[in-house]
Amino acid sequence: MRRIKRTALLLFALLLALFPWRASAATEGAVYRRVSTEEKVIALTFDDGPHPRVTYEVLDLLAAYGAKATFFVIGKNLEEYGEAAERAVSEGHELGNHTYTHPHLSGIGVGSFEGELTRNGALIEGVTGERCRLFRPPEGSCRSEMLALVGQCGYATVLWDVDTRDWSGIGTAAIVKNVLQNAREGSIVLFHDYVGRECHTVAALKEILPRLSAAGYRFVTVSELLSYSASASDVE
Ligand SMILES: [Zn+2]
Repeated sequence: MRRIKRTALLLFALLLALFPWRASAATEGAVYRRVSTEEKVIALTFDDGPHPRVTYEVLDLLAAYGAKATFFVIGKNLEEYGEAAERAVSEGHELGNHTYTHPHLSGIGVGSFEGELTRNGALIEGVTGERCRLFRPPEGSCRSEMLALVGQCGYATVLWDVDTRDWSGIGTAAIVKNVLQNAREGSIVLFHDYVGRECHTVAALKEILPRLSAAGYRFVTVSELLSYSASASDVE
């Protein structure tokens, strides 16, 4: 009996060594928009990059304020501008999966979607050395069968409660106002570090970061933000 116990313990230790367990607050298949917390923590998220200039400017600003963020990257951009993503990871930021080509999900089948998800997932793992656990659908929505697949592939889906609308071409002041009026404890804020037009994201961040910092907020990755939530059911 004792020997069986010892063998079981040895086996367990071997499994741990082979597959190191990593604590993550993200629950597979869950959909997050924000978390309920009284802690002054906010998750800034940047979609559609990496970009050869904007991502670096964002990273410089985040570093200046000791802020951590999450970048929901597009696989094709990651292939082209991987160095920006490598820098982000090396500075403590997190990468999330935003598909390989950013298709309109209403226009593709589940098989194509799976390809989009897994191809980008492999690219991200190539940068981080870890399995990616966070997914954000292009335009923030996908069909229920796709959501189910996302969960089966080990991802949580991360949406947002504050849309800066920086993608729409609005000016710096409007982006700043959107964030300062709506961000609160546990918020997930949607920015873009790759916009196919004139983009005021960086200029807005230059105002948002000092103002929210002065109000006592800390900026954390989505995974860290989720750790402030007692359970998935705590999510709004
Ligand atoms: Zn996007």
